[in-house]
Amino acid sequence: MNKNAKRTPLRTTAILVVILFIVAVLIYFGGGYHGRGREVSERRTRVMFDTSVQITIEAPKDFDFPATFTKIWEELSVCEAAFDAYDSNSALFKLNNSDSSVVVPERLAKAISAGLAYRDSTTGAFNIKVGELVKLWDFAGDGHVPTETELTDALIGLRSLTAVHGDTVVKYMDRPIIDLGGLGKGFAADAVGAILDSIPQITRYLIDLGGNIRARDKKSKEFRIGVRHPRKPDEIAGSFILPSGCACATAGDYQRYFEVNGVRYHHILDPATGRPARNCSAVTVVASNALAADIYSTALFVLGPDKGMRLIKNRTDLKAAFFDDNGEYIDGNLKIE
Ligand code: AMP
Ligand code: MG
Repeated sequence: MNKNAKRTPLRTTAILVVILFIVAVLIYFGGGYHGRGREVSERRTRVMFDTSVQITIEAPKDFDFPATFTKIWEELSVCEAAFDAYDSNSALFKLNNSDSSVVVPERLAKAISAGLAYRDSTTGAFNIKVGELVKLWDFAGDGHVPTETELTDALIGLRSLTAVHGDTVVKYMDRPIIDLGGLGKGFAADAVGAILDSIPQITRYLIDLGGNIRARDKKSKEFRIGVRHPRKPDEIAGSFILPSGCACATAGDYQRYFEVNGVRYHHILDPATGRPARNCSAVTVVASNALAADIYSTALFVLGPDKGMRLIKNRTDLKAAFFDDNGEYIDGNLKIE
């Protein structure tokens, strides 16, 4: 079965990033490096979190760009080293392989705490305890379609209790395996945003972690961001307005998947069934911070347009756009133009 499996790990994500970035940056950074008035823009790119990370900063000419970028890469490295469930050196890997309570680094405790809280506010659609399922489907490897027995067993981990007290994660059994893939990039984008917000000389920035974007412009109220067409990798489905100081993220079934007998098995799992969610092809979310945008894009993808829009109908801080299986816009309160 795995012979037919088709992996598209980094490539499609990178395309999304490029499209988001080109549209955002070319239109709103006036070509990129020249900046406006007395300011200049500098952009740096790295591969981290298994995706492309691009940071653009605008500040006066004499601003110490190298020192600021060093601080940013340090922050991102700390988050990456804590959150990767599959790297045997990471704090999360050690936690997942322990059968008792564990003291973890501050950022990991905070991320797990947030992840647990969002399970309730998304009616269970977002659940960081999907780790065993993610491992079972083997999205990071060749891909594997589990049997019913395997699925039933992996679902047990989702119901087990986990709690965070200060910097201690309390586990009540050796399961579940926690997976922070659905929030790590958003968490890290906010951490970088906090650094950049604390530097008064910076007039504008755009943080892009694999399509998890947080941006601020002290001179203008908004950015326009392009969203990749879910079924046409080289086209955009449209663009939307991202208010300055806010964040956006897209969850799509094209970002990581394998195919068996023409069926696409992608990486966003419905915790109710343990299987890839089938209600849409992509969801773009605008939120007040990158963590919420990252989490709600995954959660609303799982819920689909009907349940998803019902969940956020009274939320003035969240906007979403849903795309159907053909990649066409179907519903939402985020205007796509
Ligand atoms: P993202 O990369 O933000 O689109 O999030 C997808 C990743 O989140 C997957 O690769 C899994 O690691 C994880 N994930 C998948 N389904 C869920 C879910 N229902 N709740 C929380 N995390 C999930
Ligand atoms: Mg996400």
